[in-house]
Amino acid sequence: MGKKELNVKHWADQIADEVIERVENDPRLKKLVEKTGYFVYDEKTPSGIIHIGSGRGWIIHDAIAKALRNKGKNAKFVLSSDDHDPLDKVPSYLDKEIYEKYMGVPFKDIPSPVEGYSSFGDYYFKQCTDLFDQFGIEAELESTGEEYEKGVFNVAIKKILNNTDKVQKVYAKLYGDDTAFANRLPFNVRCPNCGKVATTATLEWDSKKEEVYYECKNDVVKWANGCGNKGWISPYDRNGKLPWKIEWAVKWPSKNVIVETAGKDHFTKNGSRTVACRISTEILDYPSPYPSKGYYTGPGYEFFTVGGKKMSTSKGTGVSFYNSMDYAPAKMLRFLLIRTRPNAVIDFQPYNTNDLILLYERYDKTERIYYGVDDEGEKENIRSKRIYELSHIGKISEKMPPQVSLTHAGNLVQIFDDDDEIIQKLIDSGNVSNDVDLEGKKYIKERLSFARKWISEFAQEQYKFSLQNEISENIDLNEKQKEAIRALTKTLQEKKLNEKELHQEFYDISKNINIETREFFTACYKVLLNKEKGPKLAPFIIALGKKAIDLFEKL
Ligand SMILES: [Zn+2]
Repeated sequence: MGKKELNVKHWADQIADEVIERVENDPRLKKLVEKTGYFVYDEKTPSGIIHIGSGRGWIIHDAIAKALRNKGKNAKFVLSSDDHDPLDKVPSYLDKEIYEKYMGVPFKDIPSPVEGYSSFGDYYFKQCTDLFDQFGIEAELESTGEEYEKGVFNVAIKKILNNTDKVQKVYAKLYGDDTAFANRLPFNVRCPNCGKVATTATLEWDSKKEEVYYECKNDVVKWANGCGNKGWISPYDRNGKLPWKIEWAVKWPSKNVIVETAGKDHFTKNGSRTVACRISTEILDYPSPYPSKGYYTGPGYEFFTVGGKKMSTSKGTGVSFYNSMDYAPAKMLRFLLIRTRPNAVIDFQPYNTNDLILLYERYDKTERIYYGVDDEGEKENIRSKRIYELSHIGKISEKMPPQVSLTHAGNLVQIFDDDDEIIQKLIDSGNVSNDVDLEGKKYIKERLSFARKWISEFAQEQYKFSLQNEISENIDLNEKQKEAIRALTKTLQEKKLNEKELHQEFYDISKNINIETREFFTACYKVLLNKEKGPKLAPFIIALGKKAIDLFEKL
């Protein structure tokens, strides 16, 4: 294993190798993997519309699980909805009057804002996971609330309560002796009377009876009121909940988690991951999952924003996972996330920038390398092929799909309304092979469809035009420009030229008439678009075909 090999490794393969090595060197982990496989886990609180940044985590975990499977390992990615967490803020896009009374109640127990879902949590979670097929994310879905109900965490809950003093010491060490968690029992009962899990103080743990004493009060949190109910209750089977940093740790031994990363905001110094790693190592005697090791948290993944940070989901207007496809097709977003290392920030800006054009260009380039059409040298070829494999959604076809650049597709959709006419044009101009099959046509149509969206919503001015029906009165061409266009018209009437030939023709005409090529081009754009500039001229005129000749003839 030389250094050179390491360099071309995709980040998901690199992580998979590290994880396999870790397991192979740890008899305990090895045993766990024999039992439950390489368990790649992620979780998300369905507190409302979920930000696209979480989607980055899902694709990272999915890619790691895929990389492990590619190496012959039994691996799966499980995503759990943390629907046992309580509502602590009514999102601005919901009716405060209706939802305020649920403050402190777990998302699993709050009615869905939309009919057809079992709960608030169910709705916002499915809003994302229903799209997983489109993003190529293979995940088993779970509900943390249901796991509590099934008693999956009971053993660990008992261990935590039996070791309350140790848990408190962890908090005291990190945050100080006088902080709340350094002095309380690490558990919240779900009040059997009012159903709130945020308003109960747990005051005693009877380890013999295995029951906790709780009081449902007004002063536990500022944002929700209790009902005054009190009594003894078993802490098991979703009768209550662990504070979430502890819950995070408890899930690891309860589920045999081998890999679970998270956004870097959880990995700050003495942040939630630090607490979870300490609880896991010191109290639960479980090795912290990758990227952590023991107390060491390792790095979380970087932020992913679309359209700038200002667009936040808390305002209900920003880019959420479920509406991210308004900005780029799912497969392009997946490609972007797979080709970028998790430790690099991505701020994808579709509006008025080249981001979308570049994304499509990179995708097409990667695809050409995958199919051996382009050769970028051994290292880059290996890298690109793996990116293509991991980002591709569904089965990779044997034949390379027909490629039409986003900018060219954008030109075509501004000239023609009919997709089949465009495909015929692409065949005529040699851009697409004439034996293109139905699958290929479908592929082109998808791109045309996004190109229309790109032109109408995102593209910079220079990519937009409207083809003229008549020659505008104020285009003001000089005699040489007119003469050049007449010569071009004649050629176009007589011969069918390909892009290269037409390009040569521009230079020949310019030379014969003694006109600057630039001046000649400007004349063409003025006649066709009533603009000084426009799309690359040769392919543009070829695409226009008779439409261009008709206009030129009117000069
Ligand atoms: Zn209560």
